[in-house]
Amino acid sequence: MIGNLSFRSDIEHVSFIDPMLRVVASSEPGFLGMTIRNEYIKEHIADHEFHVVRMALGGEKETLFASLPVIYEDEFLGTLALGWDTKELDSEYRRIVLNALIQFVLLLLFMGGILYYAYKKNTANIKAAFYDETTGLPNRRYLVEYLEDAKRHPEYPSAIILIQLNNLKTLATTYGAKYANQVYAQIAHAIRSSLRAHESLFSYSDDRFVVIKDHYEQKEELATLSERIIATTKAPMSFAGDHHYLYAEIGIVEVKGERISVDTSLQQANLALSHRKGDPDAAVIFFKDEMEGILLRQRKIKRALRAIIAGKDSTSFSLHFQPKLNLLDGSIYGFEALARLRMEDLGPVSPLEFIDIAERELLIHDLSRHILRLACEFVRALHQAGHENQSVAVNISGIQLLRDDFVEDTKQIIESYGIPMRHFEFEITESVLLENYELINEKLARIKNLGIQISLDDFGTGFSSLSRLSELHIDTVKTDRYFTKNISGEDDDASILRDIISMAHKIGKTVVAEGVETDMQMRYLASHGCDIIQGYLFSKPLPQRDVLDFITKATR
Ligand code: C2E
Ligand code: CA
Ligand code: CA
Repeated sequence: MIGNLSFRSDIEHVSFIDPMLRVVASSEPGFLGMTIRNEYIKEHIADHEFHVVRMALGGEKETLFASLPVIYEDEFLGTLALGWDTKELDSEYRRIVLNALIQFVLLLLFMGGILYYAYKKNTANIKAAFYDETTGLPNRRYLVEYLEDAKRHPEYPSAIILIQLNNLKTLATTYGAKYANQVYAQIAHAIRSSLRAHESLFSYSDDRFVVIKDHYEQKEELATLSERIIATTKAPMSFAGDHHYLYAEIGIVEVKGERISVDTSLQQANLALSHRKGDPDAAVIFFKDEMEGILLRQRKIKRALRAIIAGKDSTSFSLHFQPKLNLLDGSIYGFEALARLRMEDLGPVSPLEFIDIAERELLIHDLSRHILRLACEFVRALHQAGHENQSVAVNISGIQLLRDDFVEDTKQIIESYGIPMRHFEFEITESVLLENYELINEKLARIKNLGIQISLDDFGTGFSSLSRLSELHIDTVKTDRYFTKNISGEDDDASILRDIISMAHKIGKTVVAEGVETDMQMRYLASHGCDIIQGYLFSKPLPQRDVLDFITKATR
């Protein structure tokens, strides 16, 4: 062992000292047989502990002396003593320090790398969070923070200019979302280049922008800026050989101090926009306080709908049922379920209003499930009363149809009542077909496959032509009230209704005429072969409790 150890160049000598302090083995032949006399070393050996000491054993030369007691089965056998040359040792020490230093630098680089990576990732995250991908513009979230800040400086007034690109959605459905995005980015660029000092552009949604005007003095400046923005959006876009003209409308609201939240300010801008009349000469609308009343009303309605959906309010909401008359045999051809909301402070609220709110507030799915359940309860009650051939028509919002789980959901609800599907009819408006025609038609096929009838509501007001009607998976066409209203004599411009009836019959669809209020209208429709009529003439929509009475009277 001593041979092995002494082989190392940095070790000066290795010796083994027995308990009597005699060197019994050593790499240094001169030490062999020597007895240790140095008091300092003796002291270190005596306590049978491990020691390392630096000492000068005669002369200048320093040695690092290590003593290691060797104990075997509790018996002290002696001491292994090693001496290092400190010069060598110091260079070793420097090497270690140097190594440590290098490692420290490497560690720093590594940590720095991690930090840099995290920083980069963070900036990417920040970019994703605060900027719009399509345009690179600051997004809605950024806008909110910007406005929060602006609110704190009422001395420099700011205004929100909300820009709505009106026909971009139609472009998206005709040419695809990718093209619409391209157009959106193009317009973003055009608007941005038209802006001046204290005017900042934000992306707000797929077809909306916001420009914030800071430090303005008069309202007129906002109107001028808006006109300028509208002018820039007017340049024609060309795609697939077609030229498209977009038109923008603008809602403006001034940001007023800390009292009004950013959220409210943005809602007010939206509210102003929703008051537009589609008049190109009045495309810029300032928010007015009167509009606030509408916002308040909408909030109330939203809250009521939430409570109804949650089952916390079972009195405000109900369905009324309007019977349809079969002109061929005078029988009742089912009922249309019409949603009714009566609020304590607002009185009756039109379904046109609250369905729209439900759609915008993403409550429509839950509300519609509720409606479908009420309709199921209605049919069940009629069947239990012995009217087993009666059916119900339920109005379906376009947004519902787009939902993936709509068909499955519907099926489950109706099945849970154990009512055959043929007692249900879904009324869809043709406006939903404008967007996502193929997708909707495929959904309709699936609904029809379940056994549910489908009718196309408000026909003639929208966009689908009679020629397209044949490829639609529908059973019935409901002509809009507008056509019925125009019937005033036997041969006038209501002839369009006559044409719709005959065309629909040619492709095998049943025709229901809506809004029949007079005998004359009924006679006209009957004489032109209309199958079914619905309207105040036969009956107004009835609360469920009056329906059984109505059936009894009508079939007497
Ligand atoms: P709609 O589907 O076209 O419903 C017919 C509307 O005409 C009903 O208005 C009905 O009360 C009214 N009406 C019926 N007969 C006559 C008549 O002879 N003369 C006149 N002037 N009007 C008549 P209501 O109940 O206000 O519903 C308006 C719209 O609200 C409905 O139009 C439908 O689009 C929507 N809606 C109603 N209930 C629901 C629902 O449960 N779900 C969905 N998604 N929409 C619904
Ligand atoms: Ca309807
Ligand atoms: Ca209708």
